[in-house]
Amino acid sequence: MKLVLIGPPGCGKGTQAELLSKKFGIPHVSSGNILRAEVAAGTAFGKKIKQYMEKGEIGPQKLITKLILSYINKNCSDGFILDGFPRTVYQAQELDKHHNIVAAIYFKLPKKEIIARITGRRTCKSCARVYHIRHAPPKKKNICDTCGGELYQRDDDKKETIVNRINVYEMETIPVIEYYKLQGILKFINAAQSPEMVFEEILHLV
Ligand code: AMP
Repeated sequence: MKLVLIGPPGCGKGTQAELLSKKFGIPHVSSGNILRAEVAAGTAFGKKIKQYMEKGEIGPQKLITKLILSYINKNCSDGFILDGFPRTVYQAQELDKHHNIVAAIYFKLPKKEIIARITGRRTCKSCARVYHIRHAPPKKKNICDTCGGELYQRDDDKKETIVNRINVYEMETIPVIEYYKLQGILKFINAAQSPEMVFEEILHLV
């Protein structure tokens, strides 16, 4: 199973990718998590991309594409659920050169909802599990239910950066949706529902 989850920031694709990964036993590949790990480890690559990530921008996409494709090669022999990649038509074309994508699931969400979702999002520092302060809070405040790690608000989840991230999404990623539509593999999901209902809808589609 080679799936692409696509949609605006905060649409819940990371949460659904985790659920799908557990159900089908195939890896969830979050390009954002892979890149954040590079930044946290202070690698040369991490230093290069940090400034772009802080602003919610795409950055050196040839290098990023190479890194993500080589991650997939190493870790995903039985398929993958991609979250955050491809983010541009270039990335989708490069992915197509190596993999046969069976479906691209587009998470539709109104703009107002995007902002509310992102500003309330909290992420675990250790395992990267995602919470929402109102819709999906942890059992203990600021502590991850899964690993006990500390929750934090990503710098790029703060209000100042969100508008830019939405603009980048509209400029760079909306054309990817069109790209998959032309291939006849695009499926729509109403992402404004509860995570359980979204998951049900996805299971019907795949
Ligand atoms: P995300 O966790 O998917 O919201 O990604 C966080 C940030 O990482 C983005 O705003 C970009 O700066 C960077 N990023 C993630 N995925 C990609 C990608 N496929 N191509 C370029 N930059 C990316």
